[in-house]
Amino acid sequence: MQKILVVEDEKKLARYLQLELTHEGYEIRLAHDGRAALAAHEEWPCDLILLDLMLPELSGIEVCRRIRQKSSVPIIMLTAKDDVSDKVMGLDMGADDYMTKPFAIEELLARIRVALKRHAEDGGRAGGERTLTEGPLSLDRDSREVTFGGEDIQLTKKEFDLLEYLMLNRNVAINRNELLDKVWGYSYAGDTNVVDVYIRYLRCKLDDPFHVKLIHTVRGVGYLLRLEESGEGE
Ligand code: CA
Repeated sequence: MQKILVVEDEKKLARYLQLELTHEGYEIRLAHDGRAALAAHEEWPCDLILLDLMLPELSGIEVCRRIRQKSSVPIIMLTAKDDVSDKVMGLDMGADDYMTKPFAIEELLARIRVALKRHAEDGGRAGGERTLTEGPLSLDRDSREVTFGGEDIQLTKKEFDLLEYLMLNRNVAINRNELLDKVWGYSYAGDTNVVDVYIRYLRCKLDDPFHVKLIHTVRGVGYLLRLEESGEGE
């Protein structure tokens, strides 16, 4: 059963959503303020979050920002009609979609199905693995934690995204344009130097301190991830 966390301080609306979504076969948990939402998200891993933006304690924007630091769970924002700037900010913070109140329940249900499906497809590129590993290197796609031989590696968001893409395609040479497209998006098109820079950051955090060769340069193509003991290969 798929789980949905409903974050909404209007009790009547929250109760209505709970009834409708339960009827549709989802398992529901309610949170009535921002702090309760973060606590619920910590202890109850869910498949999707419906997040009202105007909340007591912590705003929906802040809740979204904090959840995005560690999770890629789909988030659909619920906004009042005239909250245009909040809406934009919410999408910038990584929300997947939004619904303007008042909304028809059928439309919300449709968007929930789309968001769940899209998320499943994204995660499904490598058979839906949550944890990617290469030798002692381990990357958790949900908690966004990376460890090498059990030791925590602190990566920035882009470093993480780049490493994740390389790990999803391990043993395959990927060209710089593809990395630019998949990790940075089209807006950066053209300048592949940024890829080289971030490859260097990753090597500084992984290859150098652990005396291994993980990220290989493939001349005329781009980069490839495969674990080799230092001194071998290339
Ligand atoms: Ca509200």
